[in-house]
Amino acid sequence: MLASRRAFFGIRHTRQGALIRPPWALPEAAFVEACTRCSACVEVCPTGLLVNGDGGYPEAAFNPARASQICILCGDCAQRCPEPALHYLAESRPWSVQAVFAEACLAQRDVVCRTCGESCPASAIRFPPRLGGVARPVLDEAACTGCGACLADCPTAAIQMAPTLSTPSALRGAA
Ligand code: SF4
Ligand code: SF4
Ligand code: SF4
Repeated sequence: MLASRRAFFGIRHTRQGALIRPPWALPEAAFVEACTRCSACVEVCPTGLLVNGDGGYPEAAFNPARASQICILCGDCAQRCPEPALHYLAESRPWSVQAVFAEACLAQRDVVCRTCGESCPASAIRFPPRLGGVARPVLDEAACTGCGACLADCPTAAIQMAPTLSTPSALRGAA
């Protein structure tokens, strides 16, 4: 069903462009300073989400075409990191990464679709009723963990993962 919808809308899934460091990473400048590019976090990530990116620094490579490449928030990467680059705090939010809905969203084009809401394990996507129109997805920012599980099921690849705050995620504490 999803494959046929994607074909109908002529959608190609490609790796997304936003630079996202592993969860529990220090702010970018401090991260690059501290990271030795040892790849320990990449090697331990059980879902294959982490890859060696530009310059050999690790990145989270969310890709709508690879449903398994999500973050299960296991913390293995941060706990394996031998440097302070990834600063694991069990009670903190792991990062400031959340789902963003782009214009390709069917519901925003008045086509009924609630697939992402059904995919979200955190129930972070809601569809408030719209008088005279199709209900559209609205993100509960407090509930979204940035796992990326909603990406792969979207029939038009309209969801992207993006950093949302400049505040260092590892230092913000629990929301
Ligand atoms: S928390 Fe786990 S799944 Fe997420 S990036 Fe780190 S190792 Fe991978
Ligand atoms: S484990 Fe730490 S030091 Fe090694 S590549 Fe990952 S973030 Fe950098
Ligand atoms: S990124 Fe994860 S928690 Fe956030 S809306 Fe998508 S599935 Fe839900």
